[in-house]
Amino acid sequence: MDDPTPMDIDPLPAPPVTYEIVEEGSKRRCKKLIDSTGYSYTFKEKTKTTDYWQCSIRPKENPCRATVKEKDGSFIPGRITPTTTSQSLEPSLQQRL
Ligand SMILES: [Zn+2]
Repeated sequence: MDDPTPMDIDPLPAPPVTYEIVEEGSKRRCKKLIDSTGYSYTFKEKTKTTDYWQCSIRPKENPCRATVKEKDGSFIPGRITPTTTSQSLEPSLQQRL
C-alpha cells in the first residue's frame, strides 16, 4: 500500500504568475494588465524593446511601486512585485518603511 504523507512531499515551487492584457473600452491607452494572482497594472511607458506597467494602486501618498515589464511577448515581474508590497496591506506599507 502506498500511503504517502503530505510531510514527505517536497514543496512545489509557486506556480508562475501569468499575465493578461485587458482592453478597457476602445481606447488603447486604457489597457490594463491583470496577473493571475489578481493584481492589476496600468500601462506606464514604452521603450523600443520593452513596455513597462505599474501597479494600479497608486494613492497620492506612498504609491505602490510594483512593476512588470513586457518584452518580446513575455511578462517579467520587476524587482518590486505585489508580493513584496502585499497590495492588500498597502495602507500599512508606510509603517514598515
Ligand atoms: Zn501594488
